[in-house]
Amino acid sequence: MKEIIKLFFGTIILFMMISSSIVNAAPTIRVTDCAYTIPYTFAQTDWTGKQKITYKNESIYSVANEAVKWSNLGLVSIFPTLVSDYDVRIANYSQVDNIYGYTNFLASVIAYNNYYFKSMNSYQRTYTILHEFGHALGLDERNVVGHNTVMRQGNYSQTNIGSHDIATYNCHWGK
Ligand SMILES: [Zn+2]
Repeated sequence: MKEIIKLFFGTIILFMMISSSIVNAAPTIRVTDCAYTIPYTFAQTDWTGKQKITYKNESIYSVANEAVKWSNLGLVSIFPTLVSDYDVRIANYSQVDNIYGYTNFLASVIAYNNYYFKSMNSYQRTYTILHEFGHALGLDERNVVGHNTVMRQGNYSQTNIGSHDIATYNCHWGK
């Protein structure tokens, strides 16, 4: 019987340790992360009341996986539409200007520069697609060495949203 009680309390202590480590693992929002935001956003709300961005993809590249990665952060859903009532149109252009892509808030356009995109590998394309969606979500450029982010300007191969991006996103969307 004593052994059972010991085991029982052992389980409670272990459970408490696990739960406290979950609490500690929550994203830490720092003032420095909140500084990397852009005031303007595209978001409306979807049928659940969650904020949303709809995109119409007229580019030759798929952006669905990257949209899902951002949507999985839970505060804003990004999903495709075929109708003209979109928040942002996704397009291509081709120009030798050392710009891989851009987001134009006033024109509601995200454009990828096919002059560079056509010779990028899939990781580099994913990085740029995540980067431009980041702008649509109100994240600004973040050219800081050592920060884990997809918002650095350049041609990188990071394919997952960084811890600093998550903190900035949470700050911007009020988590
Ligand atoms: Zn940018």
